[in-house]
Amino acid sequence: MKTSIQRPPLPLKACLFISLGIFSSLLVLEKVIASDPKVSFLILFSTGWLLWTFLEYFIHRFLMHELIIPGSKDNLFHHHEHHRNPQDLKVKLPHRLVFLLIFLIALKLSIQSGGYTPIFSGLLGGFSTYNLIHYLLHQPIGRYFFPRVQRAHILHHYHRPHHGYSFSTSLWDWLFGTQPPKSDIINQSMLKKYFHKTNFPITNQNQKL
Ligand SMILES: [Zn+2]
Ligand SMILES: [Zn+2]
Repeated sequence: MKTSIQRPPLPLKACLFISLGIFSSLLVLEKVIASDPKVSFLILFSTGWLLWTFLEYFIHRFLMHELIIPGSKDNLFHHHEHHRNPQDLKVKLPHRLVFLLIFLIALKLSIQSGGYTPIFSGLLGGFSTYNLIHYLLHQPIGRYFFPRVQRAHILHHYHRPHHGYSFSTSLWDWLFGTQPPKSDIINQSMLKKYFHKTNFPITNQNQKL
């Protein structure tokens, strides 16, 4: 496999420090510019959503991969089992749709309540869409919706377990130096294992994904 020079991933403390800076700046921004309740709602809701995308990166990288659980053969949430059997998703699609419904209820409540509640509905929005995105990343059709993230996720499952921790956005992988190298090749055997399909079309797969 080809490799390219990459900046080293930032350690836990640096990730926490940078993200704390980003989120406190967004909250200060909301205080300074948002005299209109609609603008305030939008900033707080987006902050909550972005907060989820950071949490999904943080949980996946530092808790599911780097945390060693004493006495356990697997990592948190049986994550290594998911790496071994990518099509065996424990949370099925109907359950993932239930999360979406919960989010819509929370969104309605936060519109009525105002204050800082949009942060929580945004967080739930990020969580429920993460559940759908991860499902789609494991379907061939996912490459039409999230080509870059799906490429990173396939590489994460096989050759690059220490890269491509994000699901909903490439932002945190980019910021913290864990994007898979652009030169990495996804071959037919990886696709067969990942999708559990034979004869998966890989024409231009590396360009498209
Ligand atoms: Zn993983
Ligand atoms: Zn996965």
